Order: sequence, then C-alpha cells, then structure tokens
Amino acid sequence: MFEKVLIANRGEIALRLHRACREMGIRTVAVHSTADTDAMHVRLADEAVCIGPPAAMDSYLNIPSILAAAEITGSDGIHPGYGFLSENAEFAHIVEEHGYTFIGPSEQHIRIMGDKIQAKQTVRELGIPVVPGSEGAVSDPEEAKALAEDMGYPVLIKAASGGGGRGMKLVRQADEFAAALEAARTESKAAFNDDAVYLEKYLERPRHIEVQVIGDGTGKVVHLGERDCSLQRRNQKVLEEAPSPALNDAARKAIGQTVVEALSKIKYTSLGTVEFLYEDGEFYFIEMNTRLQVEHPVTEAITGIDLVREQIRIAAGAPLSFDQDDIRFSGHAIECRINAEHPRTFVPSPGLVGDFHAPGGLGVRVDSGLYAGYRIPPYYDSLIAKLVVHGSTRNDCLMRLNRALGEFVIDGIEVNIPLHADLIQQQNFIDGDYHIHWLEEFLEQQE
Ligand code: ADP
Repeated sequence: MFEKVLIANRGEIALRLHRACREMGIRTVAVHSTADTDAMHVRLADEAVCIGPPAAMDSYLNIPSILAAAEITGSDGIHPGYGFLSENAEFAHIVEEHGYTFIGPSEQHIRIMGDKIQAKQTVRELGIPVVPGSEGAVSDPEEAKALAEDMGYPVLIKAASGGGGRGMKLVRQADEFAAALEAARTESKAAFNDDAVYLEKYLERPRHIEVQVIGDGTGKVVHLGERDCSLQRRNQKVLEEAPSPALNDAARKAIGQTVVEALSKIKYTSLGTVEFLYEDGEFYFIEMNTRLQVEHPVTEAITGIDLVREQIRIAAGAPLSFDQDDIRFSGHAIECRINAEHPRTFVPSPGLVGDFHAPGGLGVRVDSGLYAGYRIPPYYDSLIAKLVVHGSTRNDCLMRLNRALGEFVIDGIEVNIPLHADLIQQQNFIDGDYHIHWLEEFLEQQE
C-alpha cells in the first residue's frame, strides 16, 4: 500500500481524496497554488507544497512543479482527481517514468478514450452501441456535407479532443453546414490545439445515462450501476441521480453486462465511466471518462462502496475486493452541484463566505471545502459543494433533499441552491420525466 499520496488537485475533490487516504492510514501531500493557501484540504493534509501562482497553467497543470513536490516530500502515489491532469496520458506516463504510481487507468487507455473518434471506434469493436455518425474525422466540406445529408439533419459537429461540454456545433439544415464546420474546426484548434472534428446524429430528446465501472487490470471488471445526468445546462451536469428513473432492472443489467464484457477484453484498470445517450429504449455511446467523476458519490450512496478507496487499492496492486454478484443497489440517491454563481443569470460569484452551515442528518452528505470566512478564489471552476442525499425510495430521497436544501446556509456570495430547490418541485422532475434539454427549456420559460 502507498505510504504517502500526493493530491494533484484542489477544492472538494482534493478533500475527498485526503479523507480516503487518511482512513486508509496513508499520509497526504497537498500541492496548491498561491490562491489556495487557505483551502481546507491544504490545512488538513500532512504536508503542503505551494507549486505556483493562481493560473492553473502555472500550478495545477504544471507537471515539473508537481513532480518536484512529489520528490521533495517522498510521495509514492499521485492522484489527479478529476479535471486538470486527470485525463492527460502524458502526465500518467511521466509520473510512472519517474517511479511514482499514477492512481488511475493505464496511460494507453487514457490516450485511446481521450480521442473521442478513436474511443468510438474502439468501443464499437468491443461490442458497445455508439451514436450514428461519421466513421472518423471529417475535414473535406463536400464529403462531410454528403455524410450529413445521408445521416439526416440535425447533426452535431463535435471536437475529437472536446471536453466539459465544449466544442460542439448543432447544424439543423444543409445551408448552415459549411460555415459551421469551418467554425467548429477553428474553435477546436483554439481550445484544444486539435482541429479534428467528427459528425454525430443529433438526438432530440435523449437522457444522459452513464455506467460506472471498476477493473483491476486482470480482466476482471465490475459495474456499479448507472447514473442519470440528464439535468444539464450548456451540456454540463447540474444534478445527478442513481438509479435512473428511466431504466428497469432488465435494461440496467443488460447495459451493465455489455460494458463489463467490453472493458474486460481490454483489461481495463481503475475507475471509468461509460457515457451514453438513451432514447426510445436504446443506448448510444458518446464517450468514456477514464477517471473519478464529480458525481461518484451517488453511486457510493446506493452501493455502499467507497470508490476512491477501491481506486487507491487497485493502483497499489490489490485485486478487486468484490464480484459482480456482491453488488447490491439500495435505495435512491441524488447529488446537487452547488456552484458559486447567481441562480438565474449563472454569473460566477467568487468571494468571501460569511455564515456557513452545511445540512446533516441521516442520509445527507456534503462534500465541500467551504468554511465561514473562506475566500473563494476567482480563478477556478465554480463548483464549491456537492450535496448528496440518500433515501430508501426516490420519493423519500426527494423529501430529504428538499429538507437538506432548506438547511443549507452559504452567505456572502451567490449560490445556485434556490435553483435546485425550485427544480426538485417541478412535476416533470418529480415524475422522473426529463431529458438533456429539459432544464434549458425550463429556464427559458422562466425568463
Ligand atoms: P464532453 O466531453 O464535452 O462532456 P460529451 O460527448 O460527453 O462531451 O457530451 C456532453 C453532452 O452533450 C451530453 O451529455 C449531451 O447532453 C450532449 N450531446 C453530446 N452528443 C450528443 C448527440 N449526438 N445528440 C444530442 N446531444 C448530445
């Protein structure tokens, strides 16, 4: 087992990783920018090293600084969290080259799945159904247009290196296509330094359903059920739940099995999430994330499994501690992403936190590094807390969530708690009847 793990991240996930390590008797090293000196995980870690100025390029993405911190602290494992360097195959490679263990999947799997075109080709060959679209990258406008016409409008132009809901262009009719393709390639080059784009049939009313997996590198892979992440704004998740209100046991088992069989063939190691759009009873793969996800706690709530602990154990060379038959799903869980932003305009609202009170009680979990008097720096993502509620049924979970949101106090800044409180009162949401565009349509109606 590791003796000392360096946490190459910040915010609530850095705290989550610290907590898992502490419970496993592993010492922790926080690396942080000058803007995060007062962060909760920096205070709690056994050691802390400042690795640079606020800009992520100079700190959380600064590989030489992170490795230097690993060396001076004598760390043996490096956990990248999510975002930042978590899906950077080069980073995984360099970490291992220098004799540290990268707590995550193999460099090769990160690389394959990081290129969405290659990812789609790979999983299709492994037997996973994908969204209909171009076979590979498209660059020639005439050829691309012919493909789009065959597929039928609307089509989505997507960046091969895209992420975080960015790098997509919707085209509804043929005469918009050439300009959209050009714009997509230019934007993709600017954002991801890669102008490769591909086409996908645009699904009008799908749900986003993703399957959580874990493998130990021996070919043994277990799935931990699905999460429904259909409540999105600008292709970014706002609230997630497990299990999905749209799936029955048979559908859950079938997609779980398909994913497990596919990933067993490549001997997948560590945590991974296979993302699908789900429409009219059919699953269509969109991408695979080779890392711990923001929304992992809903899976932990319904399975009782500590995903981070398992991920660390596997990285240390241990086999999976359970079989598929050991997994029992219990009750229902919902996560609300609490952001420092105005609940209607979504304008970010960093700054000084006044009073702070997190809800508690049975079935309520809050993952957050916030405390009264903490100043949220303006340089990073606006996610400041995750409220995760578990109940024996979906209805119990909703009642508890309503209660917990009502107790949550974060003063001094704008937060999106009122939006969540509003959302969970909507009849469509109560009925579990929503799709990936539902939230944006709801927001438009409110204007
Ligand atoms: P990213 O890596 O940027 O998150 P994804 O491919 O995972 O990109 O897609 C993010 C979101 O964009 C999906 O959850 C869905 O809401 C929307 N989306 C992606 N592909 C399609 C598609 N073919 N049709 C409709 N919506 C899509």
